[in-house]
Amino acid sequence: MSESLDYEKLKFKSGLEIHQQLDTKKLFCKCLGILRNDEPDLIIKRKLHAVAGESGEVDIAAQYQSSLKKEFIYQFYKNNNCLIELDEEPPHEINQEALKIALQISLLLNCRIIPITQIMRKTVVDGSNTSGFQRTVLIARDGVVETSLGKIRIDTICLEEDSARKISEDSGKIIYKLDRLGIPLIEIATAPDIKSPEQAKETALHIGEILRSCKVKRGIGTIRQDVNLSIRNENRVELKGVQDMKLFLKIIENEIMRQKKLSDSGKPTKAEVRNALPSGLTEFIRPMPGADRMYPETDLGLLKISRNFLNEIKKELPKLKSEIEGELNKTGLNQEMIKLLLNQNKVEEFKILAEIYKNPNFIAKMILLFPKEISAKIGKPLEKVEEIFDDVYIDILKALNEKKITESDVKETLTKISQGISLKETIKTEKINFENIEEKIINLIKNKPGLSINAYMGLVMSEFKGKIDGKNSMEIIKKFVK
Ligand SMILES: [Zn+2]
Repeated sequence: MSESLDYEKLKFKSGLEIHQQLDTKKLFCKCLGILRNDEPDLIIKRKLHAVAGESGEVDIAAQYQSSLKKEFIYQFYKNNNCLIELDEEPPHEINQEALKIALQISLLLNCRIIPITQIMRKTVVDGSNTSGFQRTVLIARDGVVETSLGKIRIDTICLEEDSARKISEDSGKIIYKLDRLGIPLIEIATAPDIKSPEQAKETALHIGEILRSCKVKRGIGTIRQDVNLSIRNENRVELKGVQDMKLFLKIIENEIMRQKKLSDSGKPTKAEVRNALPSGLTEFIRPMPGADRMYPETDLGLLKISRNFLNEIKKELPKLKSEIEGELNKTGLNQEMIKLLLNQNKVEEFKILAEIYKNPNFIAKMILLFPKEISAKIGKPLEKVEEIFDDVYIDILKALNEKKITESDVKETLTKISQGISLKETIKTEKINFENIEEKIINLIKNKPGLSINAYMGLVMSEFKGKIDGKNSMEIIKKFVK
């Protein structure tokens, strides 16, 4: 931790750029967006395509010249690639599911959606795109995120194609996997409104929560965060790969210390791109590139976002985890169950079931704990057991409402169902048991006449422990004791 950096005095200024993969098929074809580690089905060798138009930026021109000498080798997978990733077929219409998710995120970030927009080609000359460009489309702008330290504006939100994955590079030969190429990415760029590392972290966490409330990919490599920062109105430095939230503050603080040291000794900060390292330090990668070179994607028409489409999306906007937590709290569910529901992604299922049977904690126990216990008991994989149970939960709750079974029967009933016995069959036997119990309770009362209801209750509960619940036995006793 840094001792005493005064960020206000340092005129600390920072903005974030976040790239997140969406959990859908690819952006301009129907290929699956899944990464592969097995052997490719095909290997394709290419030299760089000639870049259309004139290369205005010096750095791109230089990079282009050096790329011309290189050979690119692409690993192609039949299930994950088609002619589009090879740039041998024009792109299909933009993936509507990906567009919908990107619009959800834009709305959650309070952005203004752009109703008509042109899909663009961004020149890429490192071979990570077989076409020599990356398709990108600006879909929203002028949003805002609230932090405890003030508002942070969102400048732009773009939907774009992820690049191919670089596997290796040596002596003019670069190997890429094509599995990742074309996976939809949302790019969120904030304004340089961030005034301290803590505020940067809060902003990143808040945007992260919004992303995860929508259908995005999870895990390492699915989110990439860059932090732009400067002090004392010096040149801006871009830090790449700042996604480990545990290192987030340390990386920024270390980088500011580096820039401050330069500045204190009268040296200017160079405008450059640096890489965040696991040590919390950063290393130089390259000078800051010029502005992206873009030109229109001539194979696709204008992207129009209709008012109807947008209204539909607004109606079913996902809720944030903190909001869902608040709602679940109100149902009377205990904290442990709320946490489990969120972690196991079962909030929707819970809500549906809680409409049918009015005991939230029991429902949570049934869908969160019983499957695990039963799977362990009978030695069937959890997913199999859950698949079977998903079909019967509603019927079980209905049976509970109709008093065909009691809550204490449910685990046993589910165990039988998981072993292949139908719900109807299990309820029949449970019912017989239940009728037997009623008969036995009548006998018990007959054998010991004159006791109070509470005394009978004690007797019944100790005799039929686990077979009948308190509410039901009380009802039976009341029927026969005046
Ligand atoms: Zn494809």
